[in-house]
Amino acid sequence: MTDKIAFIGLGNMGGPMAVNLRKAGFDVTATDLSPEARARVAADGVAVADSAAGALAGAGVVISMLPASRHVEGLYLGDGTAGNPGLLATLPAGTRVIDCSTIAPASARRVAAAAAARGLSMIDAPVSGGTAGAAAGTLTFMVGGDAGAVEAARPFLAAMGRNIFHAGGSGAGQVAKVCNNMLLAIHMIGSAEALSLGVNNGLDPAVLAEIMKQSSGDNWSLQKYNPVPGVMDGVPASRGYSGGFGSDLMLKDLGLAEEAALATGSAIPLGGLARNLYAAHSAGGAGALDFSSIIRLLQKRTD
Ligand code: NAD
Repeated sequence: MTDKIAFIGLGNMGGPMAVNLRKAGFDVTATDLSPEARARVAADGVAVADSAAGALAGAGVVISMLPASRHVEGLYLGDGTAGNPGLLATLPAGTRVIDCSTIAPASARRVAAAAAARGLSMIDAPVSGGTAGAAAGTLTFMVGGDAGAVEAARPFLAAMGRNIFHAGGSGAGQVAKVCNNMLLAIHMIGSAEALSLGVNNGLDPAVLAEIMKQSSGDNWSLQKYNPVPGVMDGVPASRGYSGGFGSDLMLKDLGLAEEAALATGSAIPLGGLARNLYAAHSAGGAGALDFSSIIRLLQKRTD
């Protein structure tokens, strides 16, 4: 099988990932349903095709980066209608499939089992690191699948990321991703809550953040992603919560955590509360804002 790559899904994450594969010297043909997304990567020198079938010609590797489970199931298992091409039925045996989307672990296992039944290897390789990590090629990959398939995927993943963790068998990468993002939501909400309490009681949020960063309340949200506007440069809070990781995508990931918890009878009381808070935030019209905007649910209004 050749190393020629078909890359499918050129959004905020997939676009820069496809560009980094090209920069690393791989032969990439990329596609997306959106002509604008195709034009963006074409401007960076990536060959594009206007359909998944077009991108697949001669490819030995398929990489997908789509929004959610239904898009991934449609791509690989679909009935051949527009947007649901059902690629597994057409890929030559030996093709290596790498799905980087964040989807339900059960969905990842379903597609991987269908791939294996056709003689194709498939791994789930969701990422952490956001759009900045995608652009810089510093993503963390959390990978599920058999060891041979993970090793075979390493050169491709290394062109897009810095850390590659083999979490376990099929679906394990998605389980790791769901656990990480549930914890991220919880410590973001907790940090927003503590900062708002301090401000309501007369503290400067920048001073309070520094104190907590040197104390036992320290966490990634305080270190890298302060949710209070103006406290930290270069974060979404300081540019009106634009860019970054959308609240609706966080809501989706917390839904995946609940699905995984229901499937195994796991107690996730704080994860469940976090999902409800993000659902209320999204229902209030903030779904497109960065997830750190959840602090708006907790701040006193001044208007
Ligand atoms: P996005 O919405 O910007 O991009 C998704 C792209 O997929 C869109 O351009 C869409 O047109 C395309 N698409 C959908 N169905 C398609 C199909 N059948 N064929 C071809 N193209 C199709 O989303 P994103 O921010 O790039 O996120 C992608 C995945 O990565 C999601 O699962 C998300 O949860 C995950 N993720 C996102 C971030 C982040 O910071 N944005 C971080 C880590 C993980």
